[in-house]
Amino acid sequence: MALAQFHIYTQQDFRKYLMNTDFSREIKVVQNHHTLEPNYRSISPSRGEMFWLESMRNFHIHDNGWSDIGQNITTFPSGNIGLCRPINITPAGIFGANKGAICIENLGNFDAGHDQMTQEHKDCIVFLNAVLCMKFNLKPVKEQVVYHHWYDRKGKRFPESKVNNDQVGDEQKTCPGTAFFGTNTITSAEDNFFPLIDSKIQQLSNNITPDTVSMKVNASVLNVRSGPGTSFRIARTLTRDTQVTVYTTSADWSKISNTAEEWVFSAYLS
Ligand SMILES: [Zn+2]
Repeated sequence: MALAQFHIYTQQDFRKYLMNTDFSREIKVVQNHHTLEPNYRSISPSRGEMFWLESMRNFHIHDNGWSDIGQNITTFPSGNIGLCRPINITPAGIFGANKGAICIENLGNFDAGHDQMTQEHKDCIVFLNAVLCMKFNLKPVKEQVVYHHWYDRKGKRFPESKVNNDQVGDEQKTCPGTAFFGTNTITSAEDNFFPLIDSKIQQLSNNITPDTVSMKVNASVLNVRSGPGTSFRIARTLTRDTQVTVYTTSADWSKISNTAEEWVFSAYLS
């Protein structure tokens, strides 16, 4: 099989790529890792980000014996996002727990006392988790956005108390690091990481985005509802040929305002 074609994106360009691409694989979990090596200290800026993707791929193929680079996505200290193993292909992220998962490797060593994550990198990791949740209808909750450290080496989740009370020991790596957005526990993710992803999702869903589409009403009367479903109240109606801007979609519904909850049934737009 041909090896993955790498691509380095800015955050906004990655989002465009993601939102405008259909994937056949079902994604139910977003995994967060850190690379440990390479890390902030070992990467040299004179070698581009592509070099480090190739370097990780060589290691994964020659040392780990994998077919290609393990992760689907790499984030960089610069805030850029590297597309690695195609999203449609199951990653090698958490042994025994990769089916239905997408694997993010955050470049660095985020164990306490090691790399100090740049603000650009923090923003990038939050942004990436947010857009993946939006694309695959996931939420930043412990079942759907996960750390490697929460699974044993067979891919089974540790009891929560074991992770939260720092009792994993040598049974699993510290990945994505004991200082990753606080610590690598579940309570830390819920307190420090998930709220950032949540507010990024809110922010992105309310903004005009490059993905907005201009459409026309193709029904004689179209109800505008306060949410994506017929159970929501009708706020107003639109007549045929009214021009609307679609900001986001949810199942069969399109959101036509970036400041209010205004939704219409997508089949009546063309
Ligand atoms: Zn890991």
